[in-house]
Amino acid sequence: MPELPELEVIKEVLQRRVVDCTIEGVQAIGGGSAIIVRSLTQQRLEEAVSRAQIEAIGRRGKFLIFDLQPAVQDSRLYLVLNPKLAGRLQLAQPKEKRLPKTHLIFSLSSGEQLRYVDQRTMGQLYLAAHLADVPEYAGLGPEPFDVSLEEFRERLKPYRGEIKGVLTRSEFIAGIGNAYADEILWAARLHPYRKRTSLTPEEIDRLYEAMQSVLREAIDKVRLEMGDAIHLEPRDFMAVHMKSGQACPRCSTPISLVGANQRVTNFCRTCQPGGLIKGM
Ligand SMILES: [Zn+2]
Repeated sequence: MPELPELEVIKEVLQRRVVDCTIEGVQAIGGGSAIIVRSLTQQRLEEAVSRAQIEAIGRRGKFLIFDLQPAVQDSRLYLVLNPKLAGRLQLAQPKEKRLPKTHLIFSLSSGEQLRYVDQRTMGQLYLAAHLADVPEYAGLGPEPFDVSLEEFRERLKPYRGEIKGVLTRSEFIAGIGNAYADEILWAARLHPYRKRTSLTPEEIDRLYEAMQSVLREAIDKVRLEMGDAIHLEPRDFMAVHMKSGQACPRCSTPISLVGANQRVTNFCRTCQPGGLIKGM
């Protein structure tokens, strides 16, 4: 699942490669596109974005935002992508073979294509006149890099549950999902199932520092490993997430695993002691 670091780098690549391009056409492939595309205006996607110019690309939390200047109307239009578990964008040449589960192809005036690939068909691409119309967008908490330590402490107060669950709530802070929550908690040496109410002020400060450093370092690593291949999700550099059984980089204890599939939690039982579940 793309989270803040991946989406930040995808944004940078798209700013370089597709801003100022005109969308010459949209091809919807199979039934998947009907599930993925949600128009929050009266228009159909194909008509609304044809001949529109991509003026800017932004990111907010786990949303990627295309700021469009339509060909015919004066008002702005936004394409807002929430890739969820498996949504990926890909830059490709028209003759390049399609990846399986390619649902949408935007042909650009640069001669390239911007494709949307989604193995799970769970992502959403909204067409909106106002960003506030996009589900879950208006309720987003602040960006991690915009939150001061003071504000972080204050924002944590209303939450009482397990700290991993708090970190991944987009209304608390936007952009952190399952993978980077594991990484941040490992860096902060906090057990993912510690209750927020059990954290000391020193531990909360450590968590804040870890959030900043883990995300910043991840952006640099993703930028280096992904390059312009934005459909990839390089995560080999991670310390604990999806590293079940491998040696903890800090203490060599085998990394523990709880949960399954997309809700896996990985942590080091030596570096991150505590938690309330028996046997951990
Ligand atoms: Zn360890």
